[in-house]
Amino acid sequence: MSQAEGSAPSSDGGSPAPAGWTAEEVAADVRAGRRTASAVLDEALSRIGELDGDLRSFVRLFDGARARAEAIDETVAEGRDPGPLAGVPIAIKDNIAVAGEQVTCGSRILESYRSPFHATVIERLLDAGAVLVGHTNMDEFGMGSSCENSAFFPTHNPWDLERVPGGSSGGSAAAVAARLVPLALGSDTGGSVRQPAALCGVTGLKPTYGRVSRYGLVAFGSSLDQIGPLATTVADAGICLEVMAGHDRRDATSSRATVSTMSSSDFTTFDPKGRRVGIVREFVDELPTAIRGNWETGLDTLRAAGFEIVDVRVPSARATVATYYVLATSEASANLARFDGIRYGRRAEANSLATLYSRSRTEGFGAEVKRRILLGTFSLSSGYYDAYYGKATAVAAQLKTELETALESCDVLATPTTPGPAFRIGELVDDPVAMYLSDVFTTVASLTGLPAIAVPSGLSAEGLPLSFQFIGRPFGEAEVLGTGRVLENSVGALRPSMVESRG
Ligand code: GLN
Repeated sequence: MSQAEGSAPSSDGGSPAPAGWTAEEVAADVRAGRRTASAVLDEALSRIGELDGDLRSFVRLFDGARARAEAIDETVAEGRDPGPLAGVPIAIKDNIAVAGEQVTCGSRILESYRSPFHATVIERLLDAGAVLVGHTNMDEFGMGSSCENSAFFPTHNPWDLERVPGGSSGGSAAAVAARLVPLALGSDTGGSVRQPAALCGVTGLKPTYGRVSRYGLVAFGSSLDQIGPLATTVADAGICLEVMAGHDRRDATSSRATVSTMSSSDFTTFDPKGRRVGIVREFVDELPTAIRGNWETGLDTLRAAGFEIVDVRVPSARATVATYYVLATSEASANLARFDGIRYGRRAEANSLATLYSRSRTEGFGAEVKRRILLGTFSLSSGYYDAYYGKATAVAAQLKTELETALESCDVLATPTTPGPAFRIGELVDDPVAMYLSDVFTTVASLTGLPAIAVPSGLSAEGLPLSFQFIGRPFGEAEVLGTGRVLENSVGALRPSMVESRG
């Protein structure tokens, strides 16, 4: 596809570098005995050693990775199948519990916390043969769009080290984009898988709310949070989803609906003909110039592939960011009450209980987390509840109805994932509202619980990745993956020059 906004993506016919570095390829090789999990881990660690000093995508590497890779190799040697993610090195966002490891959520308040248990998704990845490499950097408690709200350090974008990788799963996105690992987990409350995936030029999938268990994910906004993959390819995101999805008795909101799979063979039979992609007019009527050309070219690509492009209306679309920031902060203010200096993590010196609480929280939380707790507490307080929290839940319900109606006349909705490419580190830190507007296209799927994928759509005039978002019907992951794959087939995998020079 010719890129409307400048240079073509660095791609050699779509194969992501280095050769054989998708989860699909690694697992196929390890299962067939063509590569060992130990050799694959060596490759990941050597890439991390070489590139992560500049990127800072990891906050910690797991000591257990080596023994784990050797155990996978033994399983293969004994003629047993380690599973669909055999030997695949995976990075985990630092808000997902891994037994025996620290889980810090990018926050000082959890600095001394170590998890005694695995999140359900971690158990499922391990059962599928994955090798967990380490925890990745994030905005504190998932609050942010740039990784600059990490209490530890900012992560850099592999396409331009002066720019942000997006957030809050910025470490996971940067690690996959720089090909340190083929696959990573993130969490998405209002866009935190999709926005960093977009800014780093990789695929990111937010599953339907309830598709994947939240057990062991540190809660931000419990009615919105979902764990999702950041992946080198759309197929890899599908494989990871399939492994993680399904009912879990430890998460009452996890769905019993059957998991509809999307394997490589399903992609080959996915036919765009007769399928409709709906364009939400309210979102795209005034697109910023930085992304307009790429958007039009992407739509042409979808049309040429056989999709019918139709217009749909979502009248409440303009209220999504405001609604999200009332609901997410309200839920966060309740969820973060548990970090009191007594039960988890950091405890301040104090001679009364009240001082212990307030000092631990004052010292432990960063500025953005405090801002959100204040906003959320205000929205929930008596006298203001009806005007803020009550109103926001009503708008979310209205949005759900509008999207259900829109998805009656099409199979998926399409929007850009972000209003522009990666911004510079420091550019938006003093303007929280401008930062919140990064989520202008992503929060709608969070508020309605719908599945949504971010897929690279080419490069901007400055040579930075841009992205399309496809939103599907409830539990319609297969449809959004299939649609994403069509765009991916024509755009190819995007690779930053950092990867080209490393090879
Ligand atoms: N950027 C959004 C926020 O700051 C979304 C975060 C997320 O999805 N965790 O809340």
